[in-house]
Amino acid sequence: MDLSVRQEKIIAIVKSDGPITGEKIAGKLNLARATLRPDLAILTMAGYLEARPRVGYFYSGKSGSELLTEKIKKYKVNEYKSVPVVIRENMTAYDAVSTFFLEDVGTIFVVDEHSCLIGVLSRKDLLRACLGNQDLNTMPVHIIMTRMPNITICTGEDLLIDAAKKLITRQIDGLPVVKKTEFGLEVVGRITKTTITKVFVELVTNDEL
Ligand code: ADP
Repeated sequence: MDLSVRQEKIIAIVKSDGPITGEKIAGKLNLARATLRPDLAILTMAGYLEARPRVGYFYSGKSGSELLTEKIKKYKVNEYKSVPVVIRENMTAYDAVSTFFLEDVGTIFVVDEHSCLIGVLSRKDLLRACLGNQDLNTMPVHIIMTRMPNITICTGEDLLIDAAKKLITRQIDGLPVVKKTEFGLEVVGRITKTTITKVFVELVTNDEL
């Protein structure tokens, strides 16, 4: 976040004289208290300053990048997950190819009758299947998918940054978001490289508002 000259001055005053009331900050800047109100609100919301009733403003001591890190570390998978695209294990590789095109996704999750996770299919799995001379119309997806327990998963309560790290370390494009049920791990969402890219852009866009 780019601070205005006046906001920088306010931070400098609070740094040297805090805790200090809004009234006193205004006095030092020869401005009316009301004029400063929006700046103080922005600096408090962004985390540069902390406000305590009847005491005044404190400098939080945190740099812009520390505040950004703190913000990112609060993002949970649940707030950002998108709708999962799933198919049943007895569907054919041909059905899977159609689903990839129709749903415009790069990862499909294979589930049982309780919507519980049993496999993952990526584009490369299907390309590999095409290399053999078998008929995709009769090939069930369960022969070509990556299956449990070899699937990297995440839950809604996980931090988004941890899900992003899994995408990098496992070199995969997507993670199923799962919820434990009596039948297994129900697929309730997905986190993909696109999710993380959107958040990255949103961070900058929100900051500019
Ligand atoms: P692409 O096929 O486009 O390279 P991925 O990198 O996601 O896509 O997939 C590479 C391999 O990893 C595939 O065999 C796929 O089945 C497997 N895979 C994809 N997602 C996961 C996951 N969440 N957990 C385990 N394996 C996965």
